[in-house]
Amino acid sequence: MPYDTQPTASHFVNGAYLEDTTGEVIEVIYPATGAVIAKVHAATPAVIEAAMTSAKAAQAAWAAMTGTERGRVLRKAADMMRDRNHDLSVLETYDTGKPYQETSVVDATSGADALEYFGGLAASLTGEHIQLGEDWVYTRREALGLCVGIGAWNYPTQIACWKGAPALACGNAMIFKPSETTPLCALKVAEILHEAGLPAGLYNVIQGMGTVGASMVTDPRVDKVSLTGSVPTGRKVYAAAAESVKHVTMELGGKSPMIVFDDADLENAVSGAILGNFYSSGQVCSNGTRVFVHKNIKEAFLDRLAARLQDAVIGDPMDPDTSFGPMVSERQMDIVLGYIAKGQEEGARLVTGGARLDRDGFYLQPTVFADVTDDMTIAREEIFGPVMAVLDFEDEADVMARANDTEFGLAAGVFTRDLSRAHRVVAGFEAGTCFINSYNDAPVEAPFGGSKMSGVGRENSKAAIQHYTQLKTVFVRMGDLEAPF
Ligand code: NAD
Repeated sequence: MPYDTQPTASHFVNGAYLEDTTGEVIEVIYPATGAVIAKVHAATPAVIEAAMTSAKAAQAAWAAMTGTERGRVLRKAADMMRDRNHDLSVLETYDTGKPYQETSVVDATSGADALEYFGGLAASLTGEHIQLGEDWVYTRREALGLCVGIGAWNYPTQIACWKGAPALACGNAMIFKPSETTPLCALKVAEILHEAGLPAGLYNVIQGMGTVGASMVTDPRVDKVSLTGSVPTGRKVYAAAAESVKHVTMELGGKSPMIVFDDADLENAVSGAILGNFYSSGQVCSNGTRVFVHKNIKEAFLDRLAARLQDAVIGDPMDPDTSFGPMVSERQMDIVLGYIAKGQEEGARLVTGGARLDRDGFYLQPTVFADVTDDMTIAREEIFGPVMAVLDFEDEADVMARANDTEFGLAAGVFTRDLSRAHRVVAGFEAGTCFINSYNDAPVEAPFGGSKMSGVGRENSKAAIQHYTQLKTVFVRMGDLEAPF
């Protein structure tokens, strides 16, 4: 292998790599070939304890530093991530199977954006002053303390940074547990942060299955849990965190609608549907997987979509020309194949794709179903793979009701040239993140997150600061204090 994918050790704790080979072995599999490319060990209770103790010990001094000092470390780490973008992107591709064409422009780069953005914001975090006659109140914006981040497997570098950057900017310590499917990238984030000057213990990465995450969620030393994962996991983690009234951010799954009106620019709408269903082989939480297309343009839309899908370059993810890679794991590929079979059984029309590719690795064809109805399984459940469901509509009010008829509320999009309709439609969407004539943009400057079952709280932007700090209110009396007796 031209690139060494075996990390120095499984965990990064207290400023250094840490190994404990008594932990359960986790094999890291390159999705493009099925080969084992690294092995790590799940964190044992001793590793978890070391992570907790070092994080607790380091946090108070970090919070006592000025925001400018904390921000300088994060901004330096951002520059280092950009300098190392090539190597980090190659590692991200090994970890996830996503094409280098994507990872080289999305993963370490968006991680660096988060470090730069929150590094810049750190110095301007403030409380407020409230004058009450001659008395007054001031608020202190304080760190929460020890935050736990738990990641999904689709964006391992980005998730590690989207949680770590605001947590650290606000003066917290973080222990991050990556998904057991993609354990490699977060270790590099920890390495870079510490090389950039982060004091030891403030950003620890420990490996493990859900049980390792669960043990941290109930630990009394932990003040906040930020999870990116599925709704079923979110329910469990939220409930466990509630036992000790911990702060939470929940970035969960979706089944988001994309509505294409008959006045839309067809080529842009097709681009949106491709980006919102096939980028990262469809393994994106905010994907617009229920594509409602107005009856008048439905056949034209499907024709253009099928034609443009012919241009997808499916192959070796390391080849810069490849634009569509494998699924992250055999398990995920099998789940998606199960949904494709369900779509056919329940009477949806297969327009294109629908099969596994005859080659090594976990490759599926980009798949489009038309004539999908609202009650079909492929229109109700999150598939998390390259499967687009196209549904017909004629009337705006009717399609809005159908678009919102889901337990999820992560994202939603509309394609139309009618300005008032665009804004009316997004105002009506029951979703946290909406797009007009675009899909799946997630700049760090904008809040990102879901409503309904798709989540609690927001990542990115100034909004994330609310979720990594708490206010202390201080009443100050200037004169004498009267009492009834
Ligand atoms: P998952 O829910 O299976 O696992 C997510 C993480 O939670 C993993 O690290 C896992 O080990 C851990 N975990 C599992 N059980 C746990 C428990 N009881 N306590 C603590 N931690 C536990 O999700 P996944 O399959 O890794 O990722 C795919 C899902 O993530 C999809 O539903 C997708 O929509 C969602 N996702 C959401 C966002 C978002 O920002 N909203 C982003 C990416 C992915």
